[in-house]
Amino acid sequence: MRILPCSLVAVVLATACATHRSPETAAAGTWAIAIHGGAGTLGRDAPAAELQAYRDALQQVLELGRARLANGDAALDVCEAVVRLLEDDPKFNAGKGAACNEAGGHELDAAVMDGSTMGYGAVAGVRTVKNPVSLARLVMERTRHVLLMGDGAERFADTVAVERVPNEWFTTPQRRAMLDEVLRERAAAVPGAGKGTVGCVALDQAGRLAAATSTGGLTGKRYGRIGDSPIAGAGTYANAWAAISGTGTGEQFLRHTVARTIAARMEFAGEDLATAARAVVLHTLNPDDGGVVAVDAAGNAFAVYNSDGMYRALADSRGRHEVAIFER
Ligand code: ASP
Repeated sequence: MRILPCSLVAVVLATACATHRSPETAAAGTWAIAIHGGAGTLGRDAPAAELQAYRDALQQVLELGRARLANGDAALDVCEAVVRLLEDDPKFNAGKGAACNEAGGHELDAAVMDGSTMGYGAVAGVRTVKNPVSLARLVMERTRHVLLMGDGAERFADTVAVERVPNEWFTTPQRRAMLDEVLRERAAAVPGAGKGTVGCVALDQAGRLAAATSTGGLTGKRYGRIGDSPIAGAGTYANAWAAISGTGTGEQFLRHTVARTIAARMEFAGEDLATAARAVVLHTLNPDDGGVVAVDAAGNAFAVYNSDGMYRALADSRGRHEVAIFER
């Protein structure tokens, strides 16, 4: 083997270092959080009290996340806690109140990612796990795997004492009515019908980024269909640059690996969070596909969507505190 002259090695190393980017990190004490409750919102003409109930619920989870991050809690713990609360709230399409599949049952998907370790855990198609996001976290922490599905995930749930409920427990009259409507209108393919998901991304005071997403999937989906939420880099992703959680037509998020593409544009093309997220959501995805919430290592929280609205809530240590549905 030929030995490279030292000067050539030095040039190669210098070039590699010059082109390697590092994320811009935040000053000590900085934190940020962004939460979504799905891109499939009620219409703008929905009764004001119903829309207000969503704003109140978002306000409540934002307050919990804000307080915990200000207290120095870990981003991953905060994301899991926020998503659990949204899973327990029947208004959102995750956990109790999850969307119905075409047979009227529920198959739930969830994932967590710890950007500080690249740890990832997910479950897909679970039918009896009350809080899928917590099972996803246990997949990350207690197995050598990343994704467990269906029966296997439920067997694992029993070994880690995760609460199970009958499949019908997830059904609400509203979700059943939505299924009936989607089945009736299927030929007409109502735009935006049946979407929704919950997610949370956060940067904690130690500079760790994390993401969590949980969903009942699309209303009227085929039995066995798995969406983007549990798939690393599609609906959920976190690394040293950014944490991203998506909501919308999962097939599109899968095809375009939406969450990972946003983070990769930041790392390899030097884009800031807003530019990268806008490029993917507004230019790669099709109109009405959905949106994302994201935070970066510098403490910026951002939301972008191409649907009519997206339930969302954002806060940071600089005093930002926003709850919104349709407002851009
Ligand atoms: N992305 C979810 C899925 O396709 C649904 C949604 O966010 O509306 O399963």
